[in-house]
Amino acid sequence: MSKGLPKRSENYSEWYNELVKRADLAENSAVRGCMVIKPYGYSIWEKMQRALDDMFKETGHTNAYFPLFVPKSLFEAEEKNAEGFAKECAVVTHYRLKNNPEKPGTLMVDPDAKLEEELVVRPTSEAIIWSTYKNWIQSYRDLPILINQWANVVRWEMRTRMFLRTAEFLWQEGHTAHASSEEAIAETKQMLEVYATFAEEFMAVPVVKGFKSANERFAGAEETMCIEAMMQDGKALQAGTSHFLGQNFAKAFDVKFQSKEGKLDHVWGTSWGVSTRLMGALIMAHSDDNGLVLPPKLAPIHVVIVPIYKGEEDLATISETIKPIIKELKSYGITVKFDDSDAQRPGWKFAEYELKGVPVRMAIGMRDLQNGVIEVARRDTLSKETRPIEGIAAYVKDLLEEIQVNIYNKALNFRKENSFEVNTWDEFLEQIEKGGFLHCHWDGTSETEEKIKELTKATIRCIPLDAKEEEGTCILTGKPSGKRVIFARAY
Ligand code: AMP
Repeated sequence: MSKGLPKRSENYSEWYNELVKRADLAENSAVRGCMVIKPYGYSIWEKMQRALDDMFKETGHTNAYFPLFVPKSLFEAEEKNAEGFAKECAVVTHYRLKNNPEKPGTLMVDPDAKLEEELVVRPTSEAIIWSTYKNWIQSYRDLPILINQWANVVRWEMRTRMFLRTAEFLWQEGHTAHASSEEAIAETKQMLEVYATFAEEFMAVPVVKGFKSANERFAGAEETMCIEAMMQDGKALQAGTSHFLGQNFAKAFDVKFQSKEGKLDHVWGTSWGVSTRLMGALIMAHSDDNGLVLPPKLAPIHVVIVPIYKGEEDLATISETIKPIIKELKSYGITVKFDDSDAQRPGWKFAEYELKGVPVRMAIGMRDLQNGVIEVARRDTLSKETRPIEGIAAYVKDLLEEIQVNIYNKALNFRKENSFEVNTWDEFLEQIEKGGFLHCHWDGTSETEEKIKELTKATIRCIPLDAKEEEGTCILTGKPSGKRVIFARAY
């Protein structure tokens, strides 16, 4: 067997990178900053997509698809958005290559094939979508528009890490248009709730819901809401964002509608997205030094059954007993793998499925069979027990539900243990080195946030929705503050 993973306590970052590779989730590619998502990793992403897509549809949205390329003139139209994304845009300037006469066997950009207008590879699609909405919206009867698209986007990130921050990533982006500010704000909040529900109920990752400070706001938005999760090293990860765009994009693209009262007004907008970064959140929130720990609701395989046998005859006997169990498990919607391959020994298989995060492993040998029992091992607690074969499928069904809850509670307890109310700058400096969420008073200015970031690398992760009104003084400047915000170092 290959040597174990690096330990989280020794090198968290290396542990993560190695785990992503060894669990066959993804690998680096020939393109700097872009990853290959391997089948096992992609099947987890597909489960995420399916659950999210169902939730989007339940809340009235439909999917559509817009082009990858955005003409530069459209991209520029909403100035703040353009300025915010300009420094990480990939731009297409030519549409043809030709043979290089000076270096036979190689190609060069054909200078005669220069595009009249350069095309920006979308870092986000507001521009192309709002330029389209202009043609779709005339009156209040055309509203609301509730569209989502599943797509890839490109942001030329300089420091990349698989899943967490890549130059090309997969995501969904919702883009909605409304007749009133109230309706758009309600939509922004609704989608934040959808994300929080998904994170907590499917990923088993507890999140804090809140508003971003002006510094961290999406370029072109009036207000950005987010969900923030805590990773096992105490750092924060922004897991999803929902933006209230006000009338900014409608004004930039001249999207107006006639109201019921016959008045002409600009349309109100929202956009919201989660990306393959969620895969990083899932891995970092739950996994351990033995490998992945997957919540059953997102695990590609729920249960693996490993027969322990000597010859073909034993295997046939075990298989006969297992068959109806598999059938019953499947009838509950549980995905089962019966690994009877003789290419690897049981011990190797145990380690492999542990690495892959399969929530439940069952093992059965001839003696177990004679005793009418089977061994059941949980990936989340690494505990094992011997159970009667009779009724085992129903038992495992309940166990999977218990594992889902347990993983969530463990992550929630971890966050509680690593959340602190910090009241002095000295305490802040000490605690930020240890990690965690620091709930502190802040004077509300961008300058102070910048200064704190410069001094400690910590940023305001969010102004929590449930922050209570409380008189206090800013952690750095001592100026008055009405509620606490969360500071943390983040991915
Ligand atoms: P934004 O459009 O900036 O609000 O981002 C939408 C979602 O994509 C957020 O959940 C971000 O955390 C995520 N995201 C932003 N940049 C990246 C990146 N380089 N790689 C992966 N996910 C990203």
